[in-house]
This record gives sequence, structure tokens and C-alpha cells, in this order.
Amino acid sequence: MASAALVLFSAGQDSATCLAWALDRFDRVETIGFDYGQRHAIELTQRPILRNTIAGLSPAWAERLSGDIVVDLKGYGALAESALTSDRAIEMAESGLPSTFVPGRNLVFLTVAGAQAYRRGIDVLVGGMCETDYSGYPDCRQETLDAQLRALALGLARPMRLETPLMHLNKAQTWSLADALGGPALTNAIIEHSHTCYEGDRTNRHDWGYGCGVCPACDLREKGFKTWENSAA
Ligand code: ZN
Repeated sequence: MASAALVLFSAGQDSATCLAWALDRFDRVETIGFDYGQRHAIELTQRPILRNTIAGLSPAWAERLSGDIVVDLKGYGALAESALTSDRAIEMAESGLPSTFVPGRNLVFLTVAGAQAYRRGIDVLVGGMCETDYSGYPDCRQETLDAQLRALALGLARPMRLETPLMHLNKAQTWSLADALGGPALTNAIIEHSHTCYEGDRTNRHDWGYGCGVCPACDLREKGFKTWENSAA
């Protein structure tokens, strides 16, 4: 039977790498994105551009890449208000978590992705969750994800697997993985079209891509890129 996977694809560096990883392994790959009222809709604008560019890197990838859906989760975004969905400053909250933490985000995304996978006859989800760089987010932990997938499999009465190829990689290693999967054509596509910056800045172009250059997401992306560049040199 042909293998199929549904990739949680947001147009960030991580999910772009996950999409290439899935296209390298599965016969059919579909994508899902979420509009949860992100304070900058830039990533939703970049999504189809990045998706088409990655598919265009190889005839086999173009053939494998199939459907896409963007699910409207603005109601959830409104109740889970954080610095990612409102104009609040990005800082450390009293809970010890950054104000960019959207409570339960991965749990909601995985439930909705599980429903879509079920509809589409897919039993593998692929997500860019990562313990290494975002250890402060409790819904990115392996333990949380394992429990969630078990609940999904029980609730759907169907096996459901989650692949997280970036779980133990740092940002530099994620660049290395992209390079191994698609060479400079892929890393250049990610630099040019993926979006990570919390401020939604696409006016400042750095050697690692677009962004304000100062927010935590830009800082992480820049450091990872420099480390990778130095190790590859
Ligand atoms: Zn930024």
C-alpha cells in the first residue's frame, strides 16, 4: 500500500524541513496549516509560496505532494491569547514561560490534524516539534506528544503515528538536515521563503532570511544558521 503522511506546515524553517523530510519518504504527502489569528498573517502568505517552491525542487517531490488545507482556528486563538496572537510584548511571564506560549497549541493542532488525516485515509502525522530549542513549551515535550497520540488513536479507533524528525535537533542541525535532503536549492528556498520572525518583518533581509533580527525567533534562527555555516565551512 502506498504510504501517506500529513505534514503540519506553517511556513517556518522547521515545518519546511519536515515537508522535505516527508517528501523524501512517503508516496503521498498532504499539508495542513492553521489560522489562529497570528498577529502577523505573513506566514499564511508565505505558505503556498514556500510549499510550491519545495515541491518544484524535484519531479518526484512534485508528484508526491498532494492536498493542502488551512483550518480557521481564530476562535481558539482568541481564547488562548498570547504575544503570538495579540500585541502584548514578548517577555517572560510569571509562569516562567515566555509570553509567546499559546496554551495547548500543539494539542489543538494535533487533534485537528488527526481529524483531517482520518478523513484523508492517512495514519502518519509529521510535525516540527522540538525539545532542544523550545524546552520551555510543555506541549512540545515527547511525553505530552506520546499521550496525545495515544488519545487520538483511541478516540479515532485507528492507529495514528506522529513523526517528529526535529525533536532532538538544534537549529544548526535542522539546517544540516535540510541540506542533506535537498542541498543548497532547499536551504536557499528556506532562507528566502520561510518565515520565523515573531514581528512579521519581511523588509530586513539577512543571510539567514527575513526578519527583525532582534526578536527571540530571529535570534534563534540567526544563531543556528551561523553555527551551521561555520560547521559546514
Ligand atoms: Zn524577528
